[in-house]
Amino acid sequence: MTTSASKAKSKNTHYEFKTDVKQLLDLVTHSLYSHKDIFLRELISNASDAIDKVRFESLTNADLLEDNSEWQVEITPDEKEKTLTIKDNGCGMSREDLIDHIGTIAKSGTQDFIDKIKESKKQDNPDLIGQFGVGFYSSFMVADKVTVRTRTAGGTGWQWVSTGEASFDLDECDKQDRGTEVVLHLKEECEDYLQEYTIRETVKKYSNFVEFPICMEVERNEYPKDKDGNDDYKAEPKKVKSTETLNSAEAIWMQPKSEIKKEDYSSFYKQISHDFQDPMETIHYSAEGAMEYKALMYLPSKAPQNIFSPDSIKGMHLYINRVFIMNDCKKLLPEYLRFVNGVVDSSDLPLNVSREILQDNPQLEKINKGLVNKLLSTLKTMKNKKPEEYLKFYNEFGMVLKEGLHYDQDNKEKLMELVMFPTTKTAEGEFKSLKDYVDGMKKNQKEIYYISAENRAKALNSPHLELYKSKNMEVLLMIDNVDEYILPQLTEYDKKPIKSVTAGAESLKGNKEKEKAAKEKAKELGDLLTAVKEKLGDDIKEVKFSGKLTESACCLTADDSEMNAQMAQMMRSMGQAMPDPKKILELNPTHPLIDVLNGLFEADKDSEQFGEYVGLIYEQALLTEGSQLKDPLGFAKKVSELMVKAQKA
Ligand code: ADP
Repeated sequence: MTTSASKAKSKNTHYEFKTDVKQLLDLVTHSLYSHKDIFLRELISNASDAIDKVRFESLTNADLLEDNSEWQVEITPDEKEKTLTIKDNGCGMSREDLIDHIGTIAKSGTQDFIDKIKESKKQDNPDLIGQFGVGFYSSFMVADKVTVRTRTAGGTGWQWVSTGEASFDLDECDKQDRGTEVVLHLKEECEDYLQEYTIRETVKKYSNFVEFPICMEVERNEYPKDKDGNDDYKAEPKKVKSTETLNSAEAIWMQPKSEIKKEDYSSFYKQISHDFQDPMETIHYSAEGAMEYKALMYLPSKAPQNIFSPDSIKGMHLYINRVFIMNDCKKLLPEYLRFVNGVVDSSDLPLNVSREILQDNPQLEKINKGLVNKLLSTLKTMKNKKPEEYLKFYNEFGMVLKEGLHYDQDNKEKLMELVMFPTTKTAEGEFKSLKDYVDGMKKNQKEIYYISAENRAKALNSPHLELYKSKNMEVLLMIDNVDEYILPQLTEYDKKPIKSVTAGAESLKGNKEKEKAAKEKAKELGDLLTAVKEKLGDDIKEVKFSGKLTESACCLTADDSEMNAQMAQMMRSMGQAMPDPKKILELNPTHPLIDVLNGLFEADKDSEQFGEYVGLIYEQALLTEGSQLKDPLGFAKKVSELMVKAQKA
């Protein structure tokens, strides 16, 4: 990691923020303002992470403990100073930590975040905060000055102060106890956060299930007792101070399902996912037998915007006997289930090993298998029993789930039942499973057909569909980027081969009458085909009349053995050099254009016009399959000339 804060003055205490921090601070303080109460959630969550960290490390190094104090987060409002302090006895930060973590944005994807917020029409977009975890900087939504005082075990105390504008100061300080305290000098309009009620409600709303007690000292009136032993409200009360825990501090996943309310599940979900919406589905269960663990998993209602970026690859939170081990344990779930949030707590894993070793633990593999099974069976039930909800889920996460077909051979059968595709017969936003496709197949149809294209419109307009349309046959549309990766896995379903429309038996067979017509035409106009092939030279493999086109004049087909156009295009976009696979140019023998072409051929096969027409036909075929023209300008010029000529004639 590079230290990105730069020294501004010779005294070793004053630092300028980097530009991206300034931009982010500006956005956080101004754009996300209506959700400013999340600052408390973010600071509590940092405090809790810091406690987790030192608690975990102290398992192997007891010196880190320094004292035996209870793990806790303390919140202290100070009415006189107008400050709110969030204090923890976690790991604390060294001087370098402060510069690297608090003075800089070292996280990848931050620029992305800034750009997204700027782009987003809705400037005030809380989902984005959740996704990128603005974290500590959210303090500046409510404070015009923030002081961080912190010390690591056995280390020196450091004080960081900033007004959240361009710079921060960093100096040594005297700090007795290990940990961190963040002192927020509240803005005038945010002084409400000094009220016990507001603090209590905000903690309950966002941080109720934080594992450690979040404590606050509260003052209550205590009345003297009257002669019957009841409070005497007429007497002058005494002010009594006591410390109260504001959160439930219980591990929700350890409690019996029957005792957990929907709101509790939902609020725990929001706490761990930083999502503002309720989850779509909650899965809570205990595994017994070979591996014992408890799992609480959630399917979100909406996909985060960065679901396809590597930053979105998270994982579950892992606990061992209620001791937090790590966030984002990638070994617990495969990438294609990366949208799942949740917690796994196992009593069967060894506690005193490093997180790195734990990542390779074979027992984690077993838990992974168990979680995947549970998730896939939950999705199956959802699909069968709550199809509307499954459709919503699929619209959000279907593209991600499909990746499983490429990566998870063991669960291929199950995934084949879960994936769905748009088809030539579904409306936009709807999908069909392979089973439903097969159930709707024509009596004599023996194969499942698909067409791959860049998008829905291109797929539906492809000349390759003409024959299938004329026979009212349904075709699956493979229009997601991920489809090309999974196609090699989609070889058959329910004993029926899955074939591309360009290679399917139907298309090879064509329409009987048209096929006959094509053959006759080929005999009759054999010389024309040879001349066209000669003109196009090495660009194509063969020219033939086809029995499957009903409307279009021409199309290009891949040899069964060759990669299709989409695949080649994708490989090229990934920077792979791809030779153009040679295509077959198919002509529609019943199209009037062929008569025109033949007329020109018979008049003079060496004429410039015949050559131009052949070129235009080929370019049309290229366009309809979604390929780029080598010379689009030349094509446009020729078409324009023809239009002018046609009008003059
Ligand atoms: P995030 O928590 O998403 O990493 P933050 O901006 O909130 O982002 O915090 C940046 C980093 O600063 C944390 O990852 C952690 O290393 C450090 N940090 C923040 N608060 C504390 C704290 N209370 N104790 C120890 N370290 C902290």
